[in-house]
Amino acid sequence: MTDDTWGRVQSELQRTIGKDAFKTWIEPLELSAIENGVARFLVPTSFIGNWVSRNFGDDLLRIFGRNDAKVHRLDFNVRSTRAPGPAKSQQRADTSKSNLQAVVNEAANPAAAGGGNGGVPGSPLDARFTFDSFVVGKPNELAHAAARRVAEGGPVTFNPFFLYGGVGLGKTHLMHAIAWELSRRNPAAKVVYLSAEQFMYRFVQALRFKDMIGFKEIFRSVDVLMVDDVQFIAGKDSTQDEFFHTFNALVEQNKQIIISGDRSPSEMNDLDDRIKSRLQWGLVVDLHPTDYELRLGILQQKVENHREMYPDLRIADGVLEFLAHRISTNVRVLEGALTRLFAFASLVGREVTLDLAQDCLADILRASDRKVTIDEIIRKVADHYNLRLSDLLSARRTRTIARPRQVAMFLSKTLTSKSLPEIGRRFGGRDHTTVIHAVRKIEELKAHDNQIAEDVELLRRMLEA
Ligand code: ADP
Ligand code: MG
Repeated sequence: MTDDTWGRVQSELQRTIGKDAFKTWIEPLELSAIENGVARFLVPTSFIGNWVSRNFGDDLLRIFGRNDAKVHRLDFNVRSTRAPGPAKSQQRADTSKSNLQAVVNEAANPAAAGGGNGGVPGSPLDARFTFDSFVVGKPNELAHAAARRVAEGGPVTFNPFFLYGGVGLGKTHLMHAIAWELSRRNPAAKVVYLSAEQFMYRFVQALRFKDMIGFKEIFRSVDVLMVDDVQFIAGKDSTQDEFFHTFNALVEQNKQIIISGDRSPSEMNDLDDRIKSRLQWGLVVDLHPTDYELRLGILQQKVENHREMYPDLRIADGVLEFLAHRISTNVRVLEGALTRLFAFASLVGREVTLDLAQDCLADILRASDRKVTIDEIIRKVADHYNLRLSDLLSARRTRTIARPRQVAMFLSKTLTSKSLPEIGRRFGGRDHTTVIHAVRKIEELKAHDNQIAEDVELLRRMLEA
């Protein structure tokens, strides 16, 4: 590995991720060494390391591989503060002395997955995915309680434990949390966590290298087997078969099996019937789509977590509520939005306001738009207050009409991504300052006037349903 290689990796990466992203995130990295397949980087702040690892980790591994560098993991350490730099970043580096060990999933790199290192195969666990960092709310409380119970170890009562739910609702997070907790309570236990895809990959490798016996021995010697995203092997017949045998062998030895999927076993059409019925023997629980309260709770927790890194970060009132309302049920999307917002705010050094959020997250907001339209809002509000549409859009200013009109403008601003001038136009050609006034007025009233607060809440629920 020479400087030259790093140069080539950099230029290829720049082509992949674009100039801007490259400048912001990759340029600040300093490659300090590549040893035993681990590329070590020095970074100015742990935030940058985290960001690179999460967003560009896979790209980096792939490109290193293509340039003949045998790298299967990236490691980021915060550079000591000696480096000269702008006062701000200096300060930030000070507040994040602790080393960051960001582990990039080795599964992304075939070289690592193929390397027979003799140990029990599995994927590294994400240090952030613990029970402590998992926010509990109505939609996930049952799954969480069950996961806690399984994580206590003890006699195996639910076998298998099957956890299912839609994308980004916390299945992997809970699986890792269970694995951490089990290993903490019993460090000697062989807890193996891997994705179904990796299970298949290893199975195929074993076939190719005629080492089925080794494969069977390894998987049958574990104490706890965790397989994530089992839907992946549905329809892949020989893998399913092998999975079934491994499963049975472990159940017979009374070893705990924990499995996740994107839907319930009975809904997995391509899954072998024998496996389906086996999966239903144990405990099957699901993660429901998040609700507003859970999303807000998660956002608040993430903000607290970032507080250490950015003591100066200021977030205007209402921004988190806005995000919790507007971003879909997928927590991954929610987190991505927040991370981008923080990165952006810290780069430009400004308070995070509603406007900044709307600007910076326009694409995400658009994608998860619940497609509430201004027309719909006007209709529902008119209905609710027993007014005619024409009244709502007219120039009349009597209270009984003006107030509902303000409610409708407020809802248009908070539930759609339309701009203020656009909203003004749709309400009978009003000026954008009128819309601003309406939004402020309703915000103020909501705090003191229960009737208004209830009306707004009810309308919001109806519109978002
Ligand atoms: P899944 O495996 O169901 O697709 P993940 O477990 O990968 O979803 O979750 C996506 C992201 O959302 C992860 O970063 C995870 O930490 C986060 N997340 C999901 N649910 C919660 C929760 N209840 N509290 C905190 N973070 C959560
Ligand atoms: Mg997952």
